[in-house]
Formats: sequence, C-alpha cells, structure tokens
Amino acid sequence: MPTLFTKIINGDIPADIVYQDEHVVAFRDIDPKAPVHVLIVTRAEIEGLASLPDQGDHTHILNAAKRIAEQEGIAEGGYRLVINQGQDGGQTVAHLHAHLLGGRAFSWPPG
Ligand code: 5GP
Repeated sequence: MPTLFTKIINGDIPADIVYQDEHVVAFRDIDPKAPVHVLIVTRAEIEGLASLPDQGDHTHILNAAKRIAEQEGIAEGGYRLVINQGQDGGQTVAHLHAHLLGGRAFSWPPG
C-alpha cells in the first residue's frame, strides 16, 4: 500500500506542491503550525529518520529546505527544520519528511 505521502507525490491526493526534484517533493502542510509550513518528503518510501540509510537523502532534504526557505521569503528572518521520529517524536505519517516552518518566531525548547 502506498503511503499517504506517496499518494500525494503521485497526484492521487491533491496538495499544494512548492518544490520538487529527483529526490524529494515538498508541499504545504494541511494543518499549518506557522505562516510557512512545508513538508519535505523523500520520494523513496523510507519509514522515518531511523530508517534512513547512512548514504541516504540527508543532503537532498537539507538542500531542498534551504532553497524553499529562499523561495518562501523566510531565509533572512530565519526558520526551523524539524523531523519527528517515532511515537515520542510525534511522528504521525510513517514516510520520512521534514517540516520547514517559518514566518514567525519559535520558542525553545519545544513543548
Ligand atoms: P508528522 O506528525 O508525521 O511529523 O507530520 C505529518 C504531517 O502531515 C502533519 O503536520 C499533518 O498536518 C500533515 N498531513 C497529514 N495529512 C495530510 C494531507 O493529506 N495533506 C497534507 N498536505 N498534509 C498532511
């Protein structure tokens, strides 16, 4: 069964796609937690960060985040990149993705 995010990548579920390349697809979160909230999803169905191979998509996720931040106009003000891993991390979709959040200030540490 394809994951929810694979269905989005394949165009079976609509989403507002803001960036794509050979390795990742990025689209706006359906329930945004900031003025800019983009999910950067690996095209490969990797369950989560813990399953990312050592020579995996790390660079592609980070490069995409940097590019999208510039595209979205949040590069100068700053932004946050988050990967939720597993139950305690708050992961709800078992398909590796990073949250790019910006357009407001964030507190630290997270709640
Ligand atoms: P996680 O909790 O796994 O780190 O993040 C999953 C994210 O996927 C959540 O922020 C949630 O709002 C988002 N999400 C869940 N279903 C959909 C959907 O159908 N479309 C989009 N664009 N985002 C979704």
